[in-house]
Amino acid sequence: MDKEDWLNGDLCEKDGLSFCAACKPNEFSPIVYVTSNGSAFHQSKDCEWLLKGIKRAKKRWKLEDDVRVAPKKSQTAISEGYNPCNFCCN
Ligand SMILES: [Zn+2]
Ligand SMILES: [Zn+2]
Repeated sequence: MDKEDWLNGDLCEKDGLSFCAACKPNEFSPIVYVTSNGSAFHQSKDCEWLLKGIKRAKKRWKLEDDVRVAPKKSQTAISEGYNPCNFCCN
């Protein structure tokens, strides 16, 4: 469904609800990436800011393992309070 359908109150395919928050269309990619320690989501796994953030976190907390980057549905990321990255989500 596109944004217009959603605003018209059309029922979503998955839950059969109108104005379904989980299915609300947004302008971002369907799948975005978040890190375990970050508060932003990224449209690209190769986002410069994402990579910089990982480097900084590893330095600050002397992490030995790689900081995990997890894919999420953009609707989920938004509803969980992640903010769009200024660098790759404009
Ligand atoms: Zn739904
Ligand atoms: Zn980004």
